[in-house]
Amino acid sequence: MRKFDHSVDAYKEAVDLMPGGVNSPVRAFKSVEMSPIFMQEGKGSKIIDIDGNEYIDYVLSWGPLILGHADERVVTKLQETAAKGTSFGAPTTLENKLAQLVIDRVPSVEMLRMVNSGTEATMSALRVARGYTGRDKILKFEGNYHGHGDSLLIKAGSGVATLGLPDSPGVPESIASNTITVPYNDIASVRSAFERYGKDIAAVIVEPVSGNMGVVPPVENFLQDLRTITEENGSLLIMDEVMTGFRVGYNCAQGHFGVTPDLTCLGKVIGGGLPVGAYGGKREIMENVAPTGTIYQAGTLSGNPLAMTAGYETLNALDESSYKEINQKVDKLVEGFRQAAAEFDIPLHINRSGSMFGVFFTDDSVINYETAQKSNLDYFAQYYRAMIEEGVFLPPSQFEGLFLSTAHTDEDIEYTIKAVHNAFSKIEK
Ligand code: PMP
Repeated sequence: MRKFDHSVDAYKEAVDLMPGGVNSPVRAFKSVEMSPIFMQEGKGSKIIDIDGNEYIDYVLSWGPLILGHADERVVTKLQETAAKGTSFGAPTTLENKLAQLVIDRVPSVEMLRMVNSGTEATMSALRVARGYTGRDKILKFEGNYHGHGDSLLIKAGSGVATLGLPDSPGVPESIASNTITVPYNDIASVRSAFERYGKDIAAVIVEPVSGNMGVVPPVENFLQDLRTITEENGSLLIMDEVMTGFRVGYNCAQGHFGVTPDLTCLGKVIGGGLPVGAYGGKREIMENVAPTGTIYQAGTLSGNPLAMTAGYETLNALDESSYKEINQKVDKLVEGFRQAAAEFDIPLHINRSGSMFGVFFTDDSVINYETAQKSNLDYFAQYYRAMIEEGVFLPPSQFEGLFLSTAHTDEDIEYTIKAVHNAFSKIEK
């Protein structure tokens, strides 16, 4: 049995300092009924906790570290940049470099603004959509998570789903009433919302592959139909690619599915492990942002040199073949999960889109938040704790996917598959 004494002590200290001892709720490991594990260092696909336990990491800081931990190329450039000053509050050419790279790679983005998190990106994109259309309402999908902005914290996924807190106190009713929520993958509900409120809807915001109720890909034509309906009604389509961006594929989910939104939100991979978000889209829309336009949005540390460096070096190290390699590893893992489930008669549904994948402990297919909740959370918690013992670090929630990096080796995958077999063999039914 692994020992976690140092983590347990650190957590005792932390709970007096921060709510739940953490700076982001899912890190508290509540749904898997464990004391949080404190991490010390990482290299490539491996991380080590403060008790010296090593793990193959499938959290990767919840997605950003697509090259794995402490990638040599990123770290070297970060050191060089840091030595020259960490922030100026004046433009740097590093911002141009990353902006140009994003514009080259993301089909819908002609112009963008850097921010510091995914939350800031979606909040800002909504403001732009509302300012541009002169409309107040937005439509979002149940179980999609777009950060913790007031308008978006309604029937959200991620930690909100993990902790079973569908709507947050502190969001004024006047704001919540402008958010319409409908089930993911349900185009008929989108149509009827537009029949009722069409002229008031500024934007539809969607995770093109949902990653915050577990992984739930869009059903055929869902994204295409959203594009058509928004266009017909003069509303904007916002793709929240904070998780899918530069992960589902080289040209993000919009390139993968061939659907072009008006605005795109980015985060995670675009910052290569440093705090970055971005929102961008059509020039005609983005030019309404201050100082060219009147829609205000700003940030003391936005476009920060360290963040721009980590983002640029990370994206620059990726090419189309990087995604092929990651996809092949996912193929193997998915097959390993299938075999283990069959061998030990575990109900398991696997969802996959490009390199994003996740498993649900149910025989039924999972296409939205309601069906995601059919997963057996007790099986998940047992599997989770067994995988920790095996030395495999997974997101501590049923409602998140697994993340792989270019640093994960074939041996890592083989080891993980064996660990899944061992874990499934121990699940008490
Ligand atoms: N949008 C999506 C799709 C996300 O997955 C997340 C975070 N998991 C966010 C927005 C919020 O990003 P951040 O945590 O950086 O604020």
